[in-house]
This record gives sequence, C-alpha cells and structure tokens, in this order.
Amino acid sequence: MSREKGVIEIRISGSGEGVYEYEFICKASDFKNPELGEPGFCNDIHVKVVANKTDSEIAVDIETKTFAELSCDICLAPLKKEAAGTYRVFFVFGEPEGNIEEQEENYRVLDRNASVIDLTEDVRETLLLSKPLKTVCTENPECSMYREDDAEHSEEKHGAKSPWQESLEKLKNKYH
Ligand SMILES: [Zn+2]
Repeated sequence: MSREKGVIEIRISGSGEGVYEYEFICKASDFKNPELGEPGFCNDIHVKVVANKTDSEIAVDIETKTFAELSCDICLAPLKKEAAGTYRVFFVFGEPEGNIEEQEENYRVLDRNASVIDLTEDVRETLLLSKPLKTVCTENPECSMYREDDAEHSEEKHGAKSPWQESLEKLKNKYH
C-alpha cells in the first residue's frame, strides 16, 4: 500500500453520472484525533454520504449522527445527547492549477482520474461542529432554570403553560 487508507472514503471510479449513497459506522478513535475524544464521542458514529455526480463535479452531502456522552454544565450529571451534523462539499473536476482557488473552502479540485475521495477530514469537521455547545440536563428543575431560551420556545409550541412551567417561573422570579 502506497498510502494510508482514509477512515471515510468513497469509491468513484467507473461510476457514471447519478446519485450514490454510502453509509459508514465508525468510532471517534478511528480518526486519531484527540479533539474528538474530548466531547464524549465514544459511541458509534453513523455517517451517511450522498454523492451527486455530474459531468463537471461531484456534490457530496455528509451527515453524521451519534450520541455524545456529556455532562450537565451545572450539576455535572452525566447525560446523553444526540449530536447531528451536516456538511456539503463540492469536488470540481479539473486541473490543480485551475482558477477556482478564489472559491470557498468547500470547493476542491478533483483529478478526473481519481478513483476514491477521502472524506475523513470533512467528516471529522462535521462531527466537531455537531458538538452541542450548551448541555443542561432536563430532569433537574434547578438546572433547567438556566435554559430560559428553551423554556420560551416550548411555551410557544404548547400554547398553555404546564403547572411545571408555572412553578418554574415562580422559582425564576424569586431569584430576580
Ligand atoms: Zn443538571
């Protein structure tokens, strides 16, 4: 083998124009990247790749889904949260010296004779971006108090306030 095989690779040689779907199940440890271990990506990671191949380019949609093992920001109780990410990247057939260098970073030049596309780095990025920024547990009302934005949204959705929400608001007012 002349080079290391990527964790996520799609084979494109010999396939004509059309839409191709690929599914992978991998582990964060496959990526050999310490950043992915930190947010608790220790469960199986499901990756779905949809490649839309045309005469001039391949548009690749990446979807990642996993359950991140996190802890509540306030009480530190362990909690599991679904982390889902999406990313789109375009591989344009052409010469490396082509004039698309001014384009956005999700445009890449692809050799027309390439047989595989290595998506390892793109999947890694997608996963990192899917990491929940704030994690607060829902079971503990004392923690949920800090989720004001979320509470407002669920009120809109349900219309009427539940007794639980009312007591929550009383609690909130007490501290204001
Ligand atoms: Zn909590």
